[in-house]
Amino acid sequence: MRRVPAGRPVSERREGLTPGEPPAGAVSRAALTERVRRAALDCGFDRVGFAPADPPAHADTYRAWLGRGHHGAMGYMAREDAVRRRLDPREALEGCRTIIVVTLVYGPGEVAGDAGMPGDPVPGRAMVARYARGRDYHDVFEERLDRLIDVLAAETPGASFRRYVDYGPVLERDHAQRAGLGWIGKNTMLIHPDDGSYVMLGELLTDLDLAPDDPFLPDRCGTCRRCLDACPTDAILPDRTIDARRCISYLTIELRGSIPVELRPAMGTRVFGCDICQEVCPWNADAPTPEIAPFAAPGTPVPPETLVEWAGELARLDDDGFRERYRGTAFRRPGRDGLLRNLAVGLGNTGSADARAMLERLVDDRSELVAEHARWGLARIEGTGPDER
Ligand code: SF4
Repeated sequence: MRRVPAGRPVSERREGLTPGEPPAGAVSRAALTERVRRAALDCGFDRVGFAPADPPAHADTYRAWLGRGHHGAMGYMAREDAVRRRLDPREALEGCRTIIVVTLVYGPGEVAGDAGMPGDPVPGRAMVARYARGRDYHDVFEERLDRLIDVLAAETPGASFRRYVDYGPVLERDHAQRAGLGWIGKNTMLIHPDDGSYVMLGELLTDLDLAPDDPFLPDRCGTCRRCLDACPTDAILPDRTIDARRCISYLTIELRGSIPVELRPAMGTRVFGCDICQEVCPWNADAPTPEIAPFAAPGTPVPPETLVEWAGELARLDDDGFRERYRGTAFRRPGRDGLLRNLAVGLGNTGSADARAMLERLVDDRSELVAEHARWGLARIEGTGPDER
């Protein structure tokens, strides 16, 4: 694992933004662009790029994806006003001229390779996507983007800004590619040749006229198709989109109801998100991991490591207790019942004696969603067929 040092010292970071400099209006477009770039790096982002506020290049692919219903139950993505804003940044911010795209590298981290596989030193480990091991990244991005807005607003009075982190109506990877920050791989992730794809994106829309970066044009996937072959639910499609309805990330985080029975065995012990298509990607083989993880923070709730321990904890919590326990983490998204549902599937897929005992408890859970998945898990362990409920 390649480790990289955390950001530059603060004293160095502030250089160039000292009070008393000429107002932004007096500097050239190129100089202003560089000041904004430096300000973004000073705010703790790893990379920054600038894209023109043009409609995204993959607008047709996006519309076709929606048309096929591949967004699943994420109906908010198909709302006409949201689609309009996704396909034209000026609908999201009047007069938008530039999209400032920022990245945070979180890297493969310590838990890689054999985690969750035979030989893992933690038997029955609950697998969690790497980005979720710490604070909710939305909160981290929002804090840093707000800091950046404060700096830029002071430098450029009258300018408008609007920030987005993942949830917003912007096709973020399209803009990131256009801002020169990498290419969109066959697994649909943005891949930077040095950083790999364990990278989170944020965007700042602005009416400032900044000089765009050169787009990243090469497709460095070449003939590789490891991610397509490795995806256990065949969710990755040849047109570089995902059928969300089959994607383990969607099933474990976004889906509110019952997980399709035919997909449950393929989930294995992945109970929150999935990194498989990134783990197999050769561009992540030497991806850097920051010395200080961007989403790490003292006091951030850490869930128990194993499926059995985590399920036991959640079974004892009511919704209020769950929200209190996991405040500030991404685990709030599926909620107590959604997580316990996922854990029941994972327990059924391990089949250990401990797992069986826990599932026998969960069949009496107050949530019918959890109880139904626990019944499925028990039936799977007892060999009465994975389709049993
Ligand atoms: Fe591209 Fe191969 Fe990585 Fe998939 S695994 S994103 S095909 S390089």
